[in-house]
Amino acid sequence: MINILKSVWRALVPAPAREKFSAARQRASVRLNHALMRAGLAGAWPHTLYIEGTNICNAKCAFCAYPQMQRPYATMPLELFKKAVEQYLELGPGEIDLTPIVGDPFVDKFLFERLDFLFHNAKVRRFHFYSNAILMKPEHAERLMNYGERFMLCCSFGGFDRKTYATVMGVDKFDEAVAAIKNVIQMKKDKRAKIRIQVSLRTPRGNAKGEFWDFLCKMRETGMITIESVDDFDNWGGAISDSALAAAGLVPKPPPVHTGPCRRLFTGPTVLSDGRVNACCCRDVEATLVIGDVNTQSLGEILKGEPLKALVKRHERGDFPEICKLCTRYEAVNAVWGERDVQ
Ligand code: SF4
Ligand code: SF4
Repeated sequence: MINILKSVWRALVPAPAREKFSAARQRASVRLNHALMRAGLAGAWPHTLYIEGTNICNAKCAFCAYPQMQRPYATMPLELFKKAVEQYLELGPGEIDLTPIVGDPFVDKFLFERLDFLFHNAKVRRFHFYSNAILMKPEHAERLMNYGERFMLCCSFGGFDRKTYATVMGVDKFDEAVAAIKNVIQMKKDKRAKIRIQVSLRTPRGNAKGEFWDFLCKMRETGMITIESVDDFDNWGGAISDSALAAAGLVPKPPPVHTGPCRRLFTGPTVLSDGRVNACCCRDVEATLVIGDVNTQSLGEILKGEPLKALVKRHERGDFPEICKLCTRYEAVNAVWGERDVQ
């Protein structure tokens, strides 16, 4: 019955309206979660669990703090990964995102074991990750095709010419990235695969032109991909200066006014590659917002534990931790309805 209703909903309501509705529903859910947590009646109930399979990356993007990271490089053991996923799903069905705070999923030697595990678990509603796609070989693309519509691949792409790409991504891998992204899209088309592919532009304004851009537009028209872009770039809690962004042709994001808790404290718990759980999946490159450890605690305990509650209280009274103070990715729980809502 639920599946029939979902099909009717999809058939009758256009995609942009569905997306708006979904964003509004998520925002309402986060507000309710915050209210119940304040009243001591609930812990956080994130609809997605982020898992850092590895914190190692093969790029050095100008807009990312990865090149400055002091944390030891690590890859999460497979058993620890399964334990974290199972503990999360004990709380109910949900989504899993394998996008690390920093790192690229294709550097992760267990990537496909992890994806297979998620694919075979019916309680995983959806699973997805961002990648720069540089290491995505044809045999990898072939395997991704099997995961069906519950899986989404997001390819970050830094420039439509070799020089811009190298400046933004910090590595001279334009040809490799273009070939890999073209290949995975073409394969989806040829095999009529149901996986979803998004190309996420991290390019200077006005750079989207040329043969590869034309290809992407054509693929978008035929429904093979979606294209998303970032117009202005954040500062990773102060680690990336406006001048560093400007040097790469990127526009800095203006600082937001911090009013109350950031929504990511409710939506973005990340299990780090060593098993510690960080409250924010987003910009805390050194993992300073640790709220527990799945090696010794259950995820359920962590999400309703004192460290997370204390962090929310700090945000409530304006006593922001260092990483949050200057963070331009901050988004207030009580932000105006309909504001942009991206991870
Ligand atoms: S943005 Fe992603 S691809 Fe670029 S350096 Fe950071 S982690 Fe690596
Ligand atoms: S303010 Fe920034 S670092 Fe802090 S929780 Fe929000 S997104 Fe994460």
